[in-house]
Amino acid sequence: MKTVSIVISAYNEATNVAELHKELSKELNTVSNTNFEMLFVDDGSKDETLSEIKQLLLKDDRVKIVQLKRNFGHEIAMTAGMDYAKGDAVIFMDADLQHPPLYIPQMVKEWNDGAEIVLTKRVDNVATSKLYKFCAKAFYWILNLLSETKIGESMPDFRLIDRRYVDFLKGFNEQDRLFRGLLSWIMPNDKVKIIEFVAPNRFSGTTKYNFFKSLRLAINSITQFSVRPLHLATWLGVLGAICSLILGFYVVIERFILHNPTPGYATIVAAVGFIGAVQLITLGIIGEYIGKIHMEVKKRPLYLAEFIEKENKKKESK
Ligand code: UDP
Ligand code: MG
Repeated sequence: MKTVSIVISAYNEATNVAELHKELSKELNTVSNTNFEMLFVDDGSKDETLSEIKQLLLKDDRVKIVQLKRNFGHEIAMTAGMDYAKGDAVIFMDADLQHPPLYIPQMVKEWNDGAEIVLTKRVDNVATSKLYKFCAKAFYWILNLLSETKIGESMPDFRLIDRRYVDFLKGFNEQDRLFRGLLSWIMPNDKVKIIEFVAPNRFSGTTKYNFFKSLRLAINSITQFSVRPLHLATWLGVLGAICSLILGFYVVIERFILHNPTPGYATIVAAVGFIGAVQLITLGIIGEYIGKIHMEVKKRPLYLAEFIEKENKKKESK
């Protein structure tokens, strides 16, 4: 019989995990001829998430825990879950019930019918404001403009991936990772199914992504998949040089041909300010990439984790 692993990343989701487990169990019971394991990844939660999951483990053999020793972020939490998953396919989902378990039987059916990757697409998200939706649209537009790897909009981390592709994904070792991007890098042209769904509000609690965390994720997404900002920096430099040249010619013509000298300091201040800004932007962009190299060359482990399953079997950290 085939096994499907469900990887659930949870950071401070103590009030959600029990309800999620209840809903999940209800749905999984409707799927025949398949074994399931539920891998709850506790991403260094500061609340009672871990003890809540341990309670679930006591009453359900399918529950396993990957306990990260501190908060490593959602992308690494999903990676850790994937590394410990043993299934022939892995389903990724959030712990806040915004990824409804209701769709899991359909995902498994698509997989049994031959799909190797089953993605989901949010057709509407009742939880997000118009401003958020606009910002998300703008972000994906800029990202796809700057990046060589195209990343789909409204494609949440709620998906099923066949073991073959899970093994491909495990081959990526970068610290700074965006699952959506990695997946689109390995995405086959066929055997991909998309299920549409309406994302509900969180069951309880608040989002873990504030403005700055989202901005950091956006910058990482761009730098991780593209060096186009570096080309942009070069073109900004060229533009700055052309503007300064034109201004220089203008001043020379005014002074020596039209005998109408331009008052000096305003022009100088404008020119210096412009060139300074271009230089700073360029340095900032270069700095982003140097920062990435600095972090990646160390080849540190991606996370520190402890694997817990029933009978207190513990496996060593990675
Ligand atoms: N999450 C995580 N580590 C983090 C932040 C979030 O594992 O550092 C989990 C979180 O518990 C949730 C999922 O990632 O299950 C998505 O986070 P959230 O719901 O806050 O994001 P949103 O749905 O608002 O985009
Ligand atoms: Mg959420």
